[in-house]
This record gives sequence, structure tokens and C-alpha cells, in this order.
Amino acid sequence: MAIIITDECINCGACEPECPNTAIYEGADDWRYKDGTKLKGKVILPDGTEIDAEAAQTPISDEVYYIVPGKCTECKGFHDEPQCAAVCPVDCCIPDDNHVESEETLLNRQSFLHNE
Ligand code: SF4
Ligand code: SF4
Repeated sequence: MAIIITDECINCGACEPECPNTAIYEGADDWRYKDGTKLKGKVILPDGTEIDAEAAQTPISDEVYYIVPGKCTECKGFHDEPQCAAVCPVDCCIPDDNHVESEETLLNRQSFLHNE
């Protein structure tokens, strides 16, 4: 499953640089698939959707830091545990019950984001 940031977030910013997938963004900031990945131009997502990796996407939260579910691999492929949860001082990075995913799905995403 992906990790989500709850509204308990105090906007300290500690998690953002720790994410190996650049899946964490500051509230109200646009996000892009290409940020911190090998993706560029038109790409087909694992679910078959075609997107523009360079296109600015709408922020998921305007108030606090947020995680893009389609870029979060729960740190699979990089670390043994979610790095955001490990550094968060208020423990507000938690598993997202609405995005429960298998290890295979998470590893496939990691490969999709970083392998050409
Ligand atoms: S669990 Fe890992 S990949 Fe997902 S947002 Fe946190 S640091 Fe990034
Ligand atoms: S480390 Fe925790 S409190 Fe700090 S910005 Fe990230 S989610 Fe928010």
C-alpha cells in the first residue's frame, strides 16, 4: 500500500528529501511524474493511462505536505521501511487503506519510475 500524510503534519519538510521516488511534495506545490524519475514525455502508466511526465499536476493538498500514490512504492526497491515514516517527528505518515497494493505492484512501480 502507499503511505499517506495526515492533517497532523506540521509542515517541517523533513520527509521530502528522504523519498527515493520524489513522491512527496509541499502543500500547494504542483507535482510531476518526471521529478526524480527517468520518465519524460508521453508515457503509459502501469494501469494503461497515457500521461505527459512533464505536465504539472494538481496538488493533492493545499495545506500540508502530500504523497503522490502513483509515485510511492513504500520505499520498496530502495529501503526496508518507508523513509518518510521513519523521519516524521509527529508520526503522520501512515499506510493508506484506500491504496492497498501488493509487493509485486510496488516493485513494478519502482521499476517503471526508474528504469528506462
Ligand atoms: S514510503 Fe517511501 S516512496 Fe513512499 S512517500 Fe514515503 S519515502 Fe516516498
Ligand atoms: S516529516 Fe511529517 S510533519 Fe514533517 S513535513 Fe513530512 S509529514 Fe509533515
